[in-house]
Amino acid sequence: MDKKVFIGVYGCQMNFSDAERMEGELRAIGYTRVDEMDEAGLIILHTCCVRETAEDKVYGKIGEIKHLKRKNPRLIFGITGCMAQKEQEALIKRAPHIDFVLGTGRMGELNDTVKIFEERISASKSNHVIDTSNVDTDVFEMPDGDVIARQSSVSAWVPIMYGCNNFCTYCIVPYVRGRERSREPQNIVNEVGQAVKKGIREVTLLGQNVNSYGKDHKKADFADLLKMVDDIDGISRIRFMTSHPKDLSDKVIDAIKNGRHICEHIHLPVQYGNNNILKSMNRVYTVEKYRSLIKDIREAISDVSITTDIIVGFPGETDEDFSETLDFIREMEFDAAYTFIYSPRSGTPAAEMGNQVPEDIKHERLHKLMDVQNEISLAINKKLVGKTMEVLVEGESRNENMWTGRTRTNKIVLWEHGSEKIGDMARVEIKKAQTWLLKGKLA
Ligand code: SF4
Repeated sequence: MDKKVFIGVYGCQMNFSDAERMEGELRAIGYTRVDEMDEAGLIILHTCCVRETAEDKVYGKIGEIKHLKRKNPRLIFGITGCMAQKEQEALIKRAPHIDFVLGTGRMGELNDTVKIFEERISASKSNHVIDTSNVDTDVFEMPDGDVIARQSSVSAWVPIMYGCNNFCTYCIVPYVRGRERSREPQNIVNEVGQAVKKGIREVTLLGQNVNSYGKDHKKADFADLLKMVDDIDGISRIRFMTSHPKDLSDKVIDAIKNGRHICEHIHLPVQYGNNNILKSMNRVYTVEKYRSLIKDIREAISDVSITTDIIVGFPGETDEDFSETLDFIREMEFDAAYTFIYSPRSGTPAAEMGNQVPEDIKHERLHKLMDVQNEISLAINKKLVGKTMEVLVEGESRNENMWTGRTRTNKIVLWEHGSEKIGDMARVEIKKAQTWLLKGKLA
């Protein structure tokens, strides 16, 4: 039991990617990953604090683990990720059964920390380890991509940079993930190359703001990196996220347009459709600038799909601001939008702003926004009925006895099984459109 690890992951793709790296590291000291906490001798919660709901879930889990620690005093329990970085000692004060708290800049110390606890437990000593230093400097660079315990045999997350310099006023990320640090381009290319040799067809290059990749080391910018990855033998698809509108250059648009394997999908969070709120969010662009960027992208890349994030209920939001945002969303015709209710995060400027919007109004606006966007998404998807699309086979759909996969434009497609296998490219004729997915049959 002792050499089994449960890693609970919360939050964004970056955290899921970190967990694959953590699992790979822990394998080197004998651990295998299990799906049930009560089978584990080591439990790690890799946390997120972007929204309050994510933090609440983690606190709920911390409570459950207290009972497991009582039953098994040899159990080692650590917290890593953004909540570790934000809360530090406060976590231990609130839950003394936590053994260690490793910040986002200390992930490279995981194995050494676990070993300290293995030794302490054998010697029946107990003491906490809290290490949240180096938030601005460390890059969680793995010595060899071979040790990453990838969860999918088809698609791989590949972080290209860590941290963010932007300080949007609602966001905790720059405080808990530090400033931007880009990985060496050759290390990224090597990692993708190794993944492809093992059968991976699709990679997603990850960063809080991938468009500012390389501004620190100046060895390659994001467009250069896209081209380098596009040239890797055997790669089928390249995706990336997330993009900040202020940094999406013509050079990147050209790289996508001229790339062979770079997918025609850009996730470009607009966050709001009114200049006063954008300014208050410190997003540094205007709706006019965003509109012109979308025009450039659509002119350059045919059939591109564009998705976005939108926050409602930001402090000071009026009915007029919200109504302008709905108009802007109708005008932009996004393929999909991930919609969020603003949640104040302590330590961020927006949490201190006056004019916080009452919860019932936030919910009402969210529903109106979702209704508008769902209508648009459905209308766009309906135009695909009758078309045949290339779909990468990802596996069984969760709820239906069908295959699931994605188009290059990141649309989810379900279809009846044929003789294709996971990792194949299937050609599927679209028969039916729904808001969030398409259904079809093999062409
Ligand atoms: S760009 Fe803004 S929202 Fe995105 S991670 Fe950075 S600070 Fe947060």
